[in-house]
Amino acid sequence: MENTTTAPFWETKKLEELTPQEWEALCDGCGLCCLHRIQDEEDDEIYLTRVACRCYDMEKHGCSDYANRHERVEGCMKLTLERVEEFDWLPETCAYRLRYHGKPLPSWHPLITKNPDSVHPFGMHSFNPIVENDEIDVEDYVMG
Ligand code: SF4
Ligand code: SF4
Repeated sequence: MENTTTAPFWETKKLEELTPQEWEALCDGCGLCCLHRIQDEEDDEIYLTRVACRCYDMEKHGCSDYANRHERVEGCMKLTLERVEEFDWLPETCAYRLRYHGKPLPSWHPLITKNPDSVHPFGMHSFNPIVENDEIDVEDYVMG
């Protein structure tokens, strides 16, 4: 009997072969790229903070204005194939980074679990994040 099972796109396709829909679906929604990072002026070291972009919606677990995010927030990254060399600043668990390096997605990725919430113990929500506001100094929230 012929085996008609086909491997899913995230296992077989390279990043450059993904359709726009597949590209979007690859994002696990971890939110780690929405946390502020601070660069040390002396040694250029980059430190992750637990302060989320002011556009982040904690209840929705995602960007509050995804369609206009690049216009709304200066510095919101535009993740494209052309900027692939910049992927290494993303967290090691970032699905784009993993697939760029030919690595499999983690077992908790929503594409695998079919549950969008399965990412939360592994994403920004595991760091007790707060949303950026005028009352706080982001430097006070650097994670050790
Ligand atoms: S770090 Fe990568 S996988 Fe996580 S939300 Fe950002 S783009 Fe998506
Ligand atoms: S604008 Fe949206 S997607 Fe961009 S960093 Fe802020 S919350 Fe994240």
